[in-house]
Amino acid sequence: MILVDSHCHIDFNEFDVDRNEVLKRTVENKVAYCLVVSVEASSFESLLLLVKSRSYLFASAGIHPNSVSMDSERERQWVSEAGSEGEVVAIGETGLDYFRSEGDLNWQRDRFRMHVQVARELNKPLIIHTRSAAEDTLHVLREETAREAGGVMHCFTEDITVARAALELGFYISLSGIVTFKNATAIQAVAKYVPEDRLLIETDSPYLTPVPHRGKRNEPGYVYHTAVFISELRGVEVAHLADVTTRNFFNLFRGAKRDLHEETLLAARGT
Ligand SMILES: [Zn+2]
Ligand SMILES: [Zn+2]
Repeated sequence: MILVDSHCHIDFNEFDVDRNEVLKRTVENKVAYCLVVSVEASSFESLLLLVKSRSYLFASAGIHPNSVSMDSERERQWVSEAGSEGEVVAIGETGLDYFRSEGDLNWQRDRFRMHVQVARELNKPLIIHTRSAAEDTLHVLREETAREAGGVMHCFTEDITVARAALELGFYISLSGIVTFKNATAIQAVAKYVPEDRLLIETDSPYLTPVPHRGKRNEPGYVYHTAVFISELRGVEVAHLADVTTRNFFNLFRGAKRDLHEETLLAARGT
């Protein structure tokens, strides 16, 4: 069994004290690859250094909708350059978040559009963050023909209607540990609904820790618990869910190289 954490923030300073140990522990749960997702320009260089130091880590380049903006020309140039790095397999996270930002949010929509345009230019898929903004997010994705770049709706917390619209755009749906929470019945319904070939799993660590570790800091290895929970919901073996979500990961993030000797490398990493 091989799992992938399709979205984590292992570069954040929450992991400064024990990053090596956390990455070693992923072996116990068969997490062979992690995508380290960028949220701002200022921390990108250190993210890239981390990813370059380990062949099982991949990077994205993006600016989170709640992160402070540069002027738009400089930002377009930054995303284009950072997005062109060989280790970078996606543009994001990007999107719209009306929950944590206030006032006139035209700047957020303009920036999101620009990120979609750059993703199309670079032919790299998008990692979409959306919160309290599903309709506008889908609207921008349609208008900017994001289908040509492809992408994933990360940490999906919307309902089946939004899931269907995202799937129609050719997008994947990624579920985080939230799906394991008792009150997450709408997301659990989505977890059963998404076709097998469009499903991804993620931790979004250090946040959103799945049951049974809820309340503690999250880490990439815990994607295993989310996989077990979803496999039970869908009535399949966890090994099967691992297989399909790992295959989906490499289908979507086409720049990410899968290692022929991944089992051997994974075992060696834990020693
Ligand atoms: Zn996010
Ligand atoms: Zn994130």
